[in-house]
Amino acid sequence: MLLLGGTADARRLAGDLARRPGFDVLLSLAGRTAHPAPQPVPVRVGGFGGAEGLARFLEDADFDVVVDVTHPYAAIMSRNAAEACARARRPLLAVRRAPWEAQAGDRWRDVDDVAHAIAALGQAQRRVFLALGRNEVRAFEAAPQHIYVVRSVDPVLPPLRVPHATYLVARGPFEARDEERLLAAHGVDIIVAKNSGGPSTYGKMAAARALGIEVLLLRRPLTPDVEAVEGAQAALAWLEARRHEALRGV
Ligand code: NAP
Repeated sequence: MLLLGGTADARRLAGDLARRPGFDVLLSLAGRTAHPAPQPVPVRVGGFGGAEGLARFLEDADFDVVVDVTHPYAAIMSRNAAEACARARRPLLAVRRAPWEAQAGDRWRDVDDVAHAIAALGQAQRRVFLALGRNEVRAFEAAPQHIYVVRSVDPVLPPLRVPHATYLVARGPFEARDEERLLAAHGVDIIVAKNSGGPSTYGKMAAARALGIEVLLLRRPLTPDVEAVEGAQAALAWLEARRHEALRGV
């Protein structure tokens, strides 16, 4: 089985599969972080060369099934997986994470992308917490008037060309109470984030609600229309059913 990962959900599912007999799993990572978290199954790192490259990879190594547990914003990879599996005639299961829903007291605004987030910050100086990927934060150099707190898994190098930025290198999960302390300590008045869903990065959203801080949420990209489940339990059930079918020669 090829597991397309890069998320905590993928790592957990890989661990569940490693403890079950009859599954031989290769986990694929994009290679975005310099020191990825240890994984419970064999890992390969780096792109496949688009949908065509992935289709060839599936055929050459004779994979039976592909499971897409990539991040909800890794839309290109999900699209490539759908196209490659169709080409190589391999079954594909997507494991999706539901987006967070606003609650009373939340001050969220959806924005289409990073450029719209920058425009929404406005001209007046804001204290902005950027909870985005290292590659996405560079665009904020276009708005150097703000004071930024940038958190990323790996250092942002070179630093942004803005006069006021603090860098925090950290990997989730993040607890709401710690996030509240952090946001208050930096006097943050607006957050730019992705609607990743799941508990591990929700802490900042709960903290923002408690402190009355505004949040600009990048809209989720569209994902391909493929068979999908939510959560590891449903994925395991689907994979077990497939394995039994294969053993029975259905
Ligand atoms: P992407 O835009 O969907 O993918 C770009 C290319 O990266 C893909 O075409 C593929 O290259 C390669 N790739 C992505 N995931 C891969 C995987 N699991 N195994 C092998 N190759 C992979 O994804 P992205 O550029 O990584 O990220 C897009 C957004 O998702 C960003 O907002 C990022 O912060 C967020 N995100 C991504 C990850 C992650 O692990 N990828 C984790 C957390 C958040 P080829 O076309 O050459 O195959």
